[in-house]
Amino acid sequence: MELKYYDPARTITLSMTRNRTVRIVMVLAPGLLLCAAACSKIAPSTTNAVPVSANSSVSPNVNLLTNALVNTPATNSGAVPVVATNTTTTHVVLPIAGFFDRVTKKHFGQYITPKTSPVQPERFTGYHAGADAETTPAEQSVDVPVYSIADGTVTYVNYVSGYGGVVMIQYEINSDTVTALYGHVRLSSVTVKKGNSVTTGQQIAVLGTGYSTESDGERKHLHFSLLKGASTNVKGYASQQSELAAWYDPEQWLRDHGAVEPAT
Ligand SMILES: [Zn+2]
Repeated sequence: MELKYYDPARTITLSMTRNRTVRIVMVLAPGLLLCAAACSKIAPSTTNAVPVSANSSVSPNVNLLTNALVNTPATNSGAVPVVATNTTTTHVVLPIAGFFDRVTKKHFGQYITPKTSPVQPERFTGYHAGADAETTPAEQSVDVPVYSIADGTVTYVNYVSGYGGVVMIQYEINSDTVTALYGHVRLSSVTVKKGNSVTTGQQIAVLGTGYSTESDGERKHLHFSLLKGASTNVKGYASQQSELAAWYDPEQWLRDHGAVEPAT
């Protein structure tokens, strides 16, 4: 056939094997995709299609139209735009060995009162802003290490009422800034200072001794919370449920990020 491509500047006549004439408005390169789509509808057998040179001269008006339609650079002849995706995943470890199994008393978001708390006696009231990792009887007299969950920067090391020792570390996890709070640690065991860089799985402290000033009178356990963004909020409880939006559920977050056991 005879296939006539028409453009405002000129008409191209192409010989085809089928004996019919088709007239279409064509935009040449970089609109090859449009051409290919049109051609494939007209001539199902692509072996019959005449290649169109990407260097064919096209009037400026057509080029503008083409670019507007395809929205690709003029040099990108017919290529399908590839959208870059971030496939980098930060390696994350648990803040204490066996973290998930240890969270047996206070989960994230749990409403605690002195009357109803699973921990007795209890002095706090509010929505628990972290997850508490408990210790075993055998661990009361031995050091229990606490680890940085990822590569990060130490932003806070201090003694805080209600916790004893606190370390906070800021992380960039897959383009998301989070700040972890490690509470009830022995301050004298803390090996890092504000401003220090830490690496994934690096031991940063051990837990404070239970019912001592190291844990501000609390049982030996890790209060681990994960704040959204850069933060120095040391609150362990939120007075309003809506305030919990400032934190992630650390159990959920660690699972979602594939946190693995720290190397001990
Ligand atoms: Zn807690």
